[in-house]
Amino acid sequence: MSPFDLSGKIALVTGASRGIGAGIAQALSAHGAHVLVNYFDDPAGVNRGEAETVVQSCRSAELCAGDVSKTADVSAMFAHIQEKHGGLDVLIANAGILRDRTLAKMTDEEFESVIDVNLGGVFRCFRAATTGVREHGRIVALSSVAGQMGFFGQANYAPSKGGVISLVKVAARELARRKITVNAIAPGFITTAMTATMPPEVIAKTAAQVPLGAWGEIADIVHATLFLCSPGARYITGHVLNVNGGFYMGS
Ligand code: NAP
Repeated sequence: MSPFDLSGKIALVTGASRGIGAGIAQALSAHGAHVLVNYFDDPAGVNRGEAETVVQSCRSAELCAGDVSKTADVSAMFAHIQEKHGGLDVLIANAGILRDRTLAKMTDEEFESVIDVNLGGVFRCFRAATTGVREHGRIVALSSVAGQMGFFGQANYAPSKGGVISLVKVAARELARRKITVNAIAPGFITTAMTATMPPEVIAKTAAQVPLGAWGEIADIVHATLFLCSPGARYITGHVLNVNGGFYMGS
């Protein structure tokens, strides 16, 4: 049997219409889980279309609409999972947004919207998970090296991701009695749509600062996530796994 076998497990991946979330959804399903592919339902239906493509590429999956910044949406998602599947075994709190601006120019709205999706979204999912995730479940949240180091222009994003690390530690303690593990992954620079708009010279400059000499790929985050969701990771909780090519080596 594969050490990553997730047969019979029910998994929810937030923000899974593309990027890292889509990759994680595909990998969880390839290892036996039935995956709920969460997407943010935009009026034009673009995200739904992308999420449908992700569902079709999975072995076993279904669509799950919802905005993680809205309590009612998160409650409805978990209610649906409870009713249809009897509970959740794996929660991947992945949804995130980036709206960089220097501290002097950042508006309240730019600050609050990023905090509300990146940190508030994880909080809402974790709160729902206290009853919605079954015993021996696995929870993984996407933090960022930005949350550990604080990058220029990220007075909203960096604290949102630093907050995710603290929140993971709180949830790890509170959910431990039900043998649910809660961990964070802190990616470094990963090539996705979120980072595609960065100027090539910035990409080259940052890559040169990474000890392993390059940006990471979605697969690097997917493999780390699979490990934390696997039976072999049962004794790891409250941990922050750095997946950044050595860019940040703090604890
Ligand atoms: P991405 O390509 O921009 O994907 C983010 C996903 O989250 C999209 O599917 C997006 O949907 C969804 N989303 C945004 N707001 C949402 C909401 N309110 N409710 C539900 N879904 C929502 O980003 P990514 O690069 O794959 O990043 C995934 C996670 O890793 C994020 O939390 C990010 O902060 C973190 N991370 C990424 C990097 C990197 O270098 N790429 C580094 C460190 C950490 P839409 O299509 O509606 O936007």
